[in-house]
Amino acid sequence: MDEAEDFRDSLRNIVNGEALFDEPADRHTSLGVGGRIDALVFPESEAEIARLVAFLRSNRIPFLPVGNWTNLIVRDGGYRGVLIALSRLRGLSLGENGDGGILLKAEAGVPLSELVNLSVRESLTGMEFCAGIPGSVGGAIRMNAGAYGSEIKDVIAMVRLLEPSGGFRIATSDTLCFSYRNLDLPPETIIIGAVFRLRRGNAEEIAGRTREIIEKRREKHPLEFRNAGSVFKNPQGVPAGRLIEETGLKGMRIGDAQVSEKHGNFIVNRGHATAEEILNLIALIRQRVFAATGYALETEVKIIGE
Ligand SMILES: Cc1cc2nc3c(=O)[nH]c(=O)nc-3n(C[C@H](O)[C@H](O)[C@H](O)COP(=O)(O)OP(=O)(O)OC[C@H]3O[C@@H](n4cnc5c(N)ncnc54)[C@H](O)[C@@H]3O)c2cc1C
Repeated sequence: MDEAEDFRDSLRNIVNGEALFDEPADRHTSLGVGGRIDALVFPESEAEIARLVAFLRSNRIPFLPVGNWTNLIVRDGGYRGVLIALSRLRGLSLGENGDGGILLKAEAGVPLSELVNLSVRESLTGMEFCAGIPGSVGGAIRMNAGAYGSEIKDVIAMVRLLEPSGGFRIATSDTLCFSYRNLDLPPETIIIGAVFRLRRGNAEEIAGRTREIIEKRREKHPLEFRNAGSVFKNPQGVPAGRLIEETGLKGMRIGDAQVSEKHGNFIVNRGHATAEEILNLIALIRQRVFAATGYALETEVKIIGE
């Protein structure tokens, strides 16, 4: 048996869930781009993830966790290593906090939309800002996702982590280093789940606010095309979209990658864009915006692969 077959067999033995090999990333990324991933696996429990990580580390095989792929560009050469999809970890439960607060416990693979829907059903306030953000709990925590004046860090009570050493650890919010669109974690750390701290609120107000946010997003964002949300961070609080629009780049196109005509900070895939076209457009935007405004834009989207 050759080495590649050996490797595949080992992964299949460790992971009860699905294991895909030589899998095209463009089937998964929200932008619809990216080359082949050596292995994409879907563990079904945290114990499976721990066994998998121990195997990968001892064999020096690179790996990365992925959630809903909505903030991710995989380059056209694909990813050499293993992407660990958290999407099968879907536990979700509610509990009371002594002080009248409500604790919402969610595993990393739960979509944010499920948390928002549950909050609306149960009249819980705190999660409204996540309405319309298409990420998972794990991805949203790693990115400290935010919108309309709130961020994940505002509602996090604690996070369950699988550390590179192989041990599980619960980190309370005061020990976590959140910043704008980032949670600082050592490389190879995996977010397994989290507890969110919410409050009882007025059912109509919560449903109304959630609807209002979804409507605003529909109006402002080019949801008719594949995209990865905001491409750039807002430098020093200045909206990157405004800088891009003022530089005259709205609608600019390289192949099928286009700066959205609706929102300057979105790049959309107009059909068959490649990661290269998108990355070239990103480079061009950075260059033009810097020349015109002096702001050096940094990407918010994560770029992986070769
Ligand atoms: C239409 C649209 C609108 C959006 N609007 C917003 C918005 O308003 N605000 C905002 O902040 N973002 C927004 N985004 C971006 C994106 O949805 C968020 O960043 C989201 O939180 C990413 O979650 P994900 O599960 O898709 O992460 P992925 O894209 O899968 O991964 C993102 C990063 O997180 C890491 N990661 C994923 N899961 C884990 C885990 N379990 N443990 C450790 N690391 C992990 C990955 O390795 C990667 O580095 C938008 C995207 C789209 C397409």
